[in-house]
Amino acid sequence: MPVYGTCRPRRPLTPEELDDSGTKKRDRRVYLVNNQGETVEFKEIDIRDRLTPLQYRVTQEAGTERAFTGDYWSTKDPGMYHCIVCDEPLFSSETKYDSGSGWPSFWEALDPEKVNRIVDRSHGMERVEATCANCGAHLGHIFPDGPRPTGERFCMNSASLKLERDDT
Ligand SMILES: [Zn+2]
Repeated sequence: MPVYGTCRPRRPLTPEELDDSGTKKRDRRVYLVNNQGETVEFKEIDIRDRLTPLQYRVTQEAGTERAFTGDYWSTKDPGMYHCIVCDEPLFSSETKYDSGSGWPSFWEALDPEKVNRIVDRSHGMERVEATCANCGAHLGHIFPDGPRPTGERFCMNSASLKLERDDT
């Protein structure tokens, strides 16, 4: 009887090569087109290694962190909020305000070009999804109930952002 090769990998996978469920991480490349029409390349395995599972779920799978649990919902420290995936500066603490929602809220992006708006009709609602214009990371949603002068509320996930504080 012929002996066929087994499906075992040639060597055991290291913990870094496995995801949370114990299966091999996908090593595909992710290409995203930014506002300037440039192609930004990430290897998904790199993103997975660099991000926490929550950061990955929020930015790559449009998840939402639970209210009042993120790092920044109540933060008032002056500084710049950067995209956790590509490090692009997206929001200034000067436009952050306490919306009472439990998520970090801003009334304006650092630059309108830095945050893309996409109509999101999931969950039986029509909402405006906000993504990083540079890398396509999901950030949160934009609602028309913010304070003056814009009247908008950028309801963001802490997991999508990294605050670079002014005094560091
Ligand atoms: Zn980004």
